[in-house]
Amino acid sequence: MTKTDRRPLVGVLALQGDFSEHEARLREAGADTRQIRYASQVADLDGLVIPGGESTAIARLTEEGAAVIFATVKERILSGMPVWGTCMGSIFLAEEIKGSAQGRLGVMSIKVRRNAFGPQKKSFQCPLAITGLGEPFPAVFIRAPLITAVGDGVEVLGVLPAELNAGASGIVMARQKNMLVTAFHPELTDDLRVHAYFLQMVAECLSRPLASAEV
Ligand code: GLN
Repeated sequence: MTKTDRRPLVGVLALQGDFSEHEARLREAGADTRQIRYASQVADLDGLVIPGGESTAIARLTEEGAAVIFATVKERILSGMPVWGTCMGSIFLAEEIKGSAQGRLGVMSIKVRRNAFGPQKKSFQCPLAITGLGEPFPAVFIRAPLITAVGDGVEVLGVLPAELNAGASGIVMARQKNMLVTAFHPELTDDLRVHAYFLQMVAECLSRPLASAEV
């Protein structure tokens, strides 16, 4: 038994950051969406996007009474719900943040360095080759992090061209099972390919036969 005969319902964490842009792109790419602010809105999601924004702001929320929503989200991710973190979202998913113990979910085996390219005015766009996506993607970087190390089972999907590589590693897109991270912002372009890639992860998860306990 599968549950693929409907549009997937993808949540966009709406506590902080550019969640509306993600919602718009996800809808264009074929999903229904829901802005997520409470733990009670998470149980029936087919996938979740954690948008870009400011990771120290969301980190503060982990200490200020929002712990329940983060515990619920973490539990669903660990039990296989597809999740995609863009920029701040990738920092929030990372196991390790260079030089910082700020609050985060810490579920993905990546190490990140925040603001790896300098301040806001050093933001840039560049064509990025992404594994399996064909033509280079117009990748927008805004005070972006770099993924400086990946653990076992993490597939690197995008690496910056050497001349833009600000550090030891130019990794800007990676996947570990149900978890996807991009250091850049596909929601700020009208190219839907990364949103479509994530919805494909969601579709694959939905088409897996349900465990007998759920049938
Ligand atoms: N620089 C931000 C941080 O460290 C991330 C920026 C973004 O999400 N565009 O949290």
